[in-house]
Amino acid sequence: MSTYDYDLFVIGGGSGGVRAARVAAGDAGARVALAEEDRYGGTCVIRGCVPKKLMVFASEFTDAAEVGKAYGWNMTSGTFDWHSFRDHLNTELDRLEGVYRSLLKNSGVDTFDARAKLKDAHTVELSNGETKTAKTILVATGGRPVRPDLPNADLGIVSDDIFHLETLPKSILIIGGGYIACEFACILHGLGVEVTQYYRGAQILRGFDDEARGLIAEAMRDRGIELHTGTNIVQMALDGQVYTSSGPTASDAALGASAQQQDLMSNDDTAPEASPGRGGPIWVKATNGRERVFDMVLFATGRNPNTDDMGFEELGIEVGRRGEVVVDAFSKTAVDSVYAIGDVTNRVNLTPVAIREGMAFVETVFKDNPTAVDHDLIPSAIFTQPEMGTVGMSEEAARDQEEIEVYCTSFRPMRTAFAGKPDRVLMKLVVSVATRKVLGCHIVAPNAGEMIQLAGIAIKMGATKEDFDRTVAVHPTMSEEIVTMKTPMRTA
Ligand code: NDP
Repeated sequence: MSTYDYDLFVIGGGSGGVRAARVAAGDAGARVALAEEDRYGGTCVIRGCVPKKLMVFASEFTDAAEVGKAYGWNMTSGTFDWHSFRDHLNTELDRLEGVYRSLLKNSGVDTFDARAKLKDAHTVELSNGETKTAKTILVATGGRPVRPDLPNADLGIVSDDIFHLETLPKSILIIGGGYIACEFACILHGLGVEVTQYYRGAQILRGFDDEARGLIAEAMRDRGIELHTGTNIVQMALDGQVYTSSGPTASDAALGASAQQQDLMSNDDTAPEASPGRGGPIWVKATNGRERVFDMVLFATGRNPNTDDMGFEELGIEVGRRGEVVVDAFSKTAVDSVYAIGDVTNRVNLTPVAIREGMAFVETVFKDNPTAVDHDLIPSAIFTQPEMGTVGMSEEAARDQEEIEVYCTSFRPMRTAFAGKPDRVLMKLVVSVATRKVLGCHIVAPNAGEMIQLAGIAIKMGATKEDFDRTVAVHPTMSEEIVTMKTPMRTA
């Protein structure tokens, strides 16, 4: 009989933590507890993938009337009601949070609505004053968006704040060129916001296939998003108050800044936390010297693991340069009884990966079946407009590795071409000359996320280009092109 309160204590009720807890309790019969300081469901359900995808759907109705007309429908464009959508969204998120809570309850997991930190290798301390012991502790605390180290950065919002906005801004500046920046640029533009995006690098979506991200950047600009690459923010302040590195200039006082505004101007640690949309309009100076005013600034400048004040250092758990918990292939930390999964480990920060890591952890620790997590060939989607679905290596990464053939086609899809729209899609395969295996597949098209899931199975199985060729096309579809590209566009 164990001397611990539980076999497993999970810290964090996001996708990874909840899955590990309920499988350990339900399938493996372990005595399990879980602590969550905020809402159950974590980033994905409450402030990430799910509300984001619903916003993507909302934003895609913009040109419905225009396209519908081409198909003979007598339609007029309507207006978007943010409050109506947001209320509906909140109701849906409440429902989903309820589902997560009942999944835990029905699996027999004890839950604590409290913050938890490690006290020793087998003890967690809860913010309600209780301590609990467990044979194994699983850290699944996720990550959080970070603002750049810039005076007045708290005038800007981060992605968490978007779902709570009182009103949508008329104009927004988005900083960053990653998933979140590009997705929200498209979403907000679709909802009628004037979107400007500054990205410090030469091309958005660094690390993805060059041709695919080039097409997305072009499509974003064609739709009216003002995308500036090689550009970053260097200064920001409430409009009418010019900020200098030594603080607000004397003329700011003359301009009559309110007490609250003066607070926001200060860059000390006592400045109050920013709340969504507070303090605009915001004056911004860019690296190219250009000064502009926006109603809102969104920082989509990356996410850091939630490892602050968790008791890790004291216990000898190694934490990396970005604050990530360092783990081995089985998600074990430097302390034998403590494991970590999901974004807090900063491996591949995607919900299904955290879930896989949680399942592998349960196999390893509770089912006597040591299972390393397989992080190879993970398909993923970026919900820009058009969407990108991608799996495997980019052309650039593959050609550094070996000799390749590139099969590629770009065309106007039937649905929107009929309506006279300029939208283009891209289908691309990167193939190994030596093994004939498809090393990478990159699709930029409406619903590319749906397509890449299926292409991902074939590629994970090691399909060759000839396997793709042997597959009969589904006609008429966009994705049929993926099995009908006969001649390489180039070799490298
Ligand atoms: P990313 O790391 O993808 O992108 C961060 C962006 O901010 C990069 O363009 C980066 O530039 C830029 N940046 C970083 N620091 C600064 C700075 N100081 N000043 C200006 N720009 C800066 O992070 P995201 O926040 O977009 O997304 C976080 C993670 O969430 C992703 O890695 C992904 O795993 C996950 N996610 C997945 C989604 C999906 O699957 N569809 C959707 C949303 C998020 P640079 O490129 O030069 O470093």
